[in-house]
Amino acid sequence: MATIIDGKAVAGALRKSLKAEIESLKAAGITPGLAVVLVGGDPASKVYVGSKEKACAELGMHSERYNLKEETAMGELLALIGKLSKDDKIHGILVQLPLPRHLDEKTVLEAIPAHKDVDAFHPENVGRIMIGDYRFLPCTPAGVMELILSTGVSIEGRECVVVGRSNIVGKPMAMLLLHKSGTVTVCHSKTKNLGEVTRRADILVAAVGRAKFITADMIKPGAVVIDVGMNRDENGKLCGDVDFESALPFAGYITPVPGGVGPMTIAMLMKNTVAAAKAAAKQL
Ligand code: NDP
Repeated sequence: MATIIDGKAVAGALRKSLKAEIESLKAAGITPGLAVVLVGGDPASKVYVGSKEKACAELGMHSERYNLKEETAMGELLALIGKLSKDDKIHGILVQLPLPRHLDEKTVLEAIPAHKDVDAFHPENVGRIMIGDYRFLPCTPAGVMELILSTGVSIEGRECVVVGRSNIVGKPMAMLLLHKSGTVTVCHSKTKNLGEVTRRADILVAAVGRAKFITADMIKPGAVVIDVGMNRDENGKLCGDVDFESALPFAGYITPVPGGVGPMTIAMLMKNTVAAAKAAAKQL
């Protein structure tokens, strides 16, 4: 029977240490500040933005939220990013994705100055991750690394399989595992015999976006299984990419959904904002 990895507890410990760090920064006159920009009314995005705002408040950070209309023009959004870029109270700028269709994501992400890009989606930061000389780590993959670390299972030399190759999860995830000397395979929708590949994994990360897609027969007994997915099942209940109930007897360690990767993503965002504030203070 797998040990369930408690993402809330791991994230709670990280937040506790961040809180102490923020208190000492504030005593030195620096309050880390995050601006979150939401365009349109996507219900899931609203929830994510609300959680980020709440986390800032709990840690005593400064946060600003901008709710822009669905039909916001590119010029208006870029002007806001430009204003926040020059604002010394703001150390991190996050534009919640996905954006409405008429707004080009690439242009928007590139408009955020790399030193305030706490999501680590700017091409400069993506490149830095690739070469292992990073300013910020992307929040979700970095959170996954913390969860793996919490199991005590070493990544070095292990077969690591990442299912999904998105720019925000799959690709950076593979890179972080590679930096820790895992033997990494990345799977996607064109992968043949997916189950054969996933069954090789000592460490399996699922970032597919399909409810209960990874079934018990696709898991190597004893594997560390990290479920990034956030989906709704047939009853509308939140669930991951892994069929948790069937995987539980086979995996060595497994993350639940909710309560696994999700809380870590937010904690890592806070960590990046604190790092951005510290870096800005060094420039003074
Ligand atoms: P994307 O839709 O951008 O990427 C999904 C990936 O899964 C693609 O690479 C796709 O392959 C691959 N895929 C789709 N179908 C299959 C299949 N049948 N077999 C193998 N691979 C397949 O999603 P994201 O990476 O943005 O997100 C993945 C999941 O993680 C979602 O559920 C999302 O909600 C969740 N998420 C959770 C976060 C958290 O904090 N917990 C943060 C970010 C995301 P291809 O490239 O070939 O199309």
